[in-house]
Amino acid sequence: MGGTSGQGRQAGGTPRAALADLLAGNRRFVSGQPVHGHDVTAAAAASGDQQPYAVVLGCIDSRVPLEAIFDQTFGAICVIRTGGHVLDRAVCGSIEYVVGQLGVPLVMVLGHERCGAVGAAVDALRTGQRPGGSLAYLVDEIAPAVTEAGIDDPAVHPLAIRRHVRRTVHTLREDDLLAGPVAAGRVAVVGGLYDLATGEVALLDPG
Ligand SMILES: [Zn+2]
Repeated sequence: MGGTSGQGRQAGGTPRAALADLLAGNRRFVSGQPVHGHDVTAAAAASGDQQPYAVVLGCIDSRVPLEAIFDQTFGAICVIRTGGHVLDRAVCGSIEYVVGQLGVPLVMVLGHERCGAVGAAVDALRTGQRPGGSLAYLVDEIAPAVTEAGIDDPAVHPLAIRRHVRRTVHTLREDDLLAGPVAAGRVAVVGGLYDLATGEVALLDPG
């Protein structure tokens, strides 16, 4: 893709280059000038090999399609989405595979404003009513971020969204198979926040 894809696309690229590529894609998306928007065709899908340079873990929210908001073509990024980007073994195993087997140097955890999954955890803690079924698992996994943010804080929802991203980043950095590459600097795990109003992705400091 010529000048639109940088060093992060090369095998063995650095986390820094991968992050620069990802954020450059978001800037193209925000500016209304995506270069891959027209590539959403079967022909484009069949045209290339897989050489992903990043894996993005995001929420299932229908307003946050990850390939689109980073203006990425087929084969460029691996995407995992769960409610409130909650981790489980399948998610961690998938990230371990992408990092360990495909050599991807960057993992981004992307939260977003007005996240309904985080809202459900806030509601559950406020009312004391834990949902049934497997939804309880999502709420339980997000609840510590809500507690840290402070259930009585008027801004608990946006604060908990940020806390939850940071907690997810920390958990992944300590993952059995990720901790070594992270400590060696071969892999970076970063947190980001998507603004539904502007389309911008902002990096969150580790906090
Ligand atoms: Zn969400």
